[in-house]
Amino acid sequence: MDETIIDLVDLTKKYGSFTAVDHLSLSINKGEVFGLLGPNGAGKSTTILMMLGMTDPTSGTAHICGIDSTKNPIEVKKRVGYLPEDVGFYGDRSGLDNLIYTARLNNISEKEAKVKARELLKRVGLSEAIEKNAGTYSRGMRQRLGLADVLIKNPEVIILDEPTLGIDPKGIKEFLRLIIQLSKEEGITVLFSSHNLHQVQQVCDRVGLFVNGKLIAVGDIRSLSQRLFADSPYSIDAGINLSASDPKIEKLKEKLSTVEGVTNVNMKDNKFHLECSRDATTEIAKTIIESGFDLNYLNKKEYGLDEIYYRYFEGGDEHE
Ligand code: ADP
Ligand code: MG
Repeated sequence: MDETIIDLVDLTKKYGSFTAVDHLSLSINKGEVFGLLGPNGAGKSTTILMMLGMTDPTSGTAHICGIDSTKNPIEVKKRVGYLPEDVGFYGDRSGLDNLIYTARLNNISEKEAKVKARELLKRVGLSEAIEKNAGTYSRGMRQRLGLADVLIKNPEVIILDEPTLGIDPKGIKEFLRLIIQLSKEEGITVLFSSHNLHQVQQVCDRVGLFVNGKLIAVGDIRSLSQRLFADSPYSIDAGINLSASDPKIEKLKEKLSTVEGVTNVNMKDNKFHLECSRDATTEIAKTIIESGFDLNYLNKKEYGLDEIYYRYFEGGDEHE
């Protein structure tokens, strides 16, 4: 059975009359990689701070590993590794020393800390920079050091606030790969906030869409897309060697529209564009070939986070 590890109930944060986080309820299961996705100002960082007990909610509760974050922030911090948007290190100390320092703060013995710090630095790809001062690290290197820093205390949960901001594309890819690896190999629960949907889509099991302090939708990409594109979640392009003006096209078009699940058929140039309520790829291919046409290519597209994100933001209204 799924075990809830992060449990937010009706969490609300007001700054004066402004509501930064508005009655947010969310449960995240152990071992999940969860993406908190939303534009700047949506309330992601504020939510994270409440989860960690670093700011008190106006109302509602946050529990992590069964512990109330507001009442017992110290116990929560023991179990959670947090990488803030802007992580600070001692610039005049080496990456290794910075990690050993964190380990000491977490009551890890000097001996164990040294071994572990080296092992972690290797793991996050900083072997070459172990002895270099953290002040000389690039943004990407600092974020990797940040990841090693949150891992050194063996957290059950890691919370990363916009961890890929300012890293170059190659660095981002490696960083995201590292997150997936950690979660899978060590069963660590990861909460990852970002305004970048592509990154979230690459790594997260589930996503929460966050706008104006409200969580407007939660689910895996597939179920979100099915809910939003309930009528036609699949779109299929089929290239054939006839042009739209050919008289034979009408008959094929008719046939294609009778294929189960096909909701719309259009033809332009040498291409059919079909919208479908289910994956009808095989039947579409068969229909075209059995009608005596050459199929040049077939391209299936399932709606991804891009379409979901923009549909929510364009619509601007709430969906449950
Ligand atoms: P995100 O991390 O999604 O970009 P934040 O949680 O940082 O969003 O901010 C949510 C909203 O709350 C923003 O409009 C921000 O200006 C406001 N806010 C955040 N912190 C404070 C604060 N300490 N005082 C007043 N307003 C704040
Ligand atoms: Mg933020």
